[in-house]
Amino acid sequence: PEAGSALLDVTDLRKTFGGLVAVNDINFSLKAGEIVGLIGPNGAGKSTTFNLVTGVLHATSGAVRFAGETISTLSARMIARRGVSRTFQHVKLVPDMSVLENVALGAHLRGEAGAMRGLFRFDRTEEARIFREAEHQLERVGLADLAAKPAGSLALGQQRVLEIARALCLDPVLLLLDEPAAGLRHLEKEALAALLKRLSQEGVAILLVEHDMDFVMGLTNRLVVMDFGTKLAEGPPAEIQANPVVIEAYLGG
Ligand code: ADP
Ligand code: MG
Repeated sequence: PEAGSALLDVTDLRKTFGGLVAVNDINFSLKAGEIVGLIGPNGAGKSTTFNLVTGVLHATSGAVRFAGETISTLSARMIARRGVSRTFQHVKLVPDMSVLENVALGAHLRGEAGAMRGLFRFDRTEEARIFREAEHQLERVGLADLAAKPAGSLALGQQRVLEIARALCLDPVLLLLDEPAAGLRHLEKEALAALLKRLSQEGVAILLVEHDMDFVMGLTNRLVVMDFGTKLAEGPPAEIQANPVVIEAYLGG
């Protein structure tokens, strides 16, 4: 997309589960290289929004456009291959497999014939490509020294970074992170924030769901606040932190 135009455009996006409106006609957009935080109380619809953008769920109505193309009708796999990659709210690693193998699981998704070929057919060229890509991504996030360790032996902060390395194997233009700082220690949060800033400088746009206000304050260009499925407010972090409507949603309960 040309400079200044939106990379991601969410228009009147709506998702209902039976009678429950989980996402209620929300609108927001994101530019290339931007870091935007999606915040709001539990049940606000943040994870559902992520699932709609990444094709894990399909919208009841509304549209998601990415790089000028409507993606809300595509499968999760097609969306991922267009450069939208994500991590999940709960760590999804295989604890007994090595750090490198866990990242390689992400690289499998990228091959020409895709995951099935990589996983079930013996293909030495494809396998070599996958492990080269995984090693490259581990170096990119600073975990190369731990490549041979079982993923389950890593500290939580390192596991989160490992998940990011796995998501990076899809060579994303947009990375969605669901509560990446949850449960992390102060120093781990600082390291994670530095990594995300570096990725954004490399041109990766980041949309992150996060509860930790301190974490999003220093990191994001903009915050989108959700409550009960609707967009409550949007703006620079400092402005959002002082917004009485936002304070009420968080503290008024
Ligand atoms: P958040 O991530 O902001 O905490 P969610 O997007 O997970 O919120 O959930 C928004 C609302 O939708 C909640 O009321 C939740 O219970 C409901 N919800 C989420 N997923 C489903 C589902 N698969 N089926 C039914 N209800 C769901
Ligand atoms: Mg959630």
